[in-house]
Amino acid sequence: MSRPRKFLLFDIDQTLLHTDGAGLRALSRAFREVFELPGDGDLPLDLAGATDHGLFEDFLARRGEAEPPGLRSHFFSIYTDHLRIELEGGPKKEGRVLPGVESLLDLLRERNEHLLGLLTGNTRCGAEIKMTSYGLAGHFEFDIGAYGDDHPDRNRLGPVALERAAGRGHTFEPTRVVIIGDTPRDIHCARHLGAAAVAVATGGFSAAELALHEPDLLLTSLEEPTSLLELLDA
Ligand SMILES: [Mg+2]
Repeated sequence: MSRPRKFLLFDIDQTLLHTDGAGLRALSRAFREVFELPGDGDLPLDLAGATDHGLFEDFLARRGEAEPPGLRSHFFSIYTDHLRIELEGGPKKEGRVLPGVESLLDLLRERNEHLLGLLTGNTRCGAEIKMTSYGLAGHFEFDIGAYGDDHPDRNRLGPVALERAAGRGHTFEPTRVVIIGDTPRDIHCARHLGAAAVAVATGGFSAAELALHEPDLLLTSLEEPTSLLELLDA
């Protein structure tokens, strides 16, 4: 690729793929194990647009506990083990790549005009496990993305991604960055950076709900990418 025109940063869960609850199960098991909680069901965690480290910090804050040294890395190593078990050997149950994602990524690869990375609340390791399990890892440069272990606040992840891209020789003005995600938090994250926000209503928020947050482009799915390609060409 000569100089990439735009820097596309994709959210993972409910934007590119749907793990049918594997992420929630793995997080719930890790919280139960590490904090010795009784029971075995999923915990009522609000995952939409959250970051994994943000979830961990909120959980501790609700318990009124300070964070002892080493607890976070212990928690995330247990979580990673559970996520691996959940997704080992590929997607299980109803998990799937969302409609239109593979053909869009193929098309972007063919055009070879834009740099593709991830901006996700998943830890980097969790992101790699999910993307590899669903066969999407090859489309993205993991080293230039920003992850839920970079900062608990999603709004702080945009600058991390820009800095990483710059470190690899790709400097972008925020106006040449496009953040694609399924929640209001993805839209706010784009706004915070000064990037374009593309909202896709394939998660828990309807198009009408997302519209209230005024994304630059609102899609019902990635199946019809014409308007997204127009935005990239602009
Ligand atoms: Mg999402």
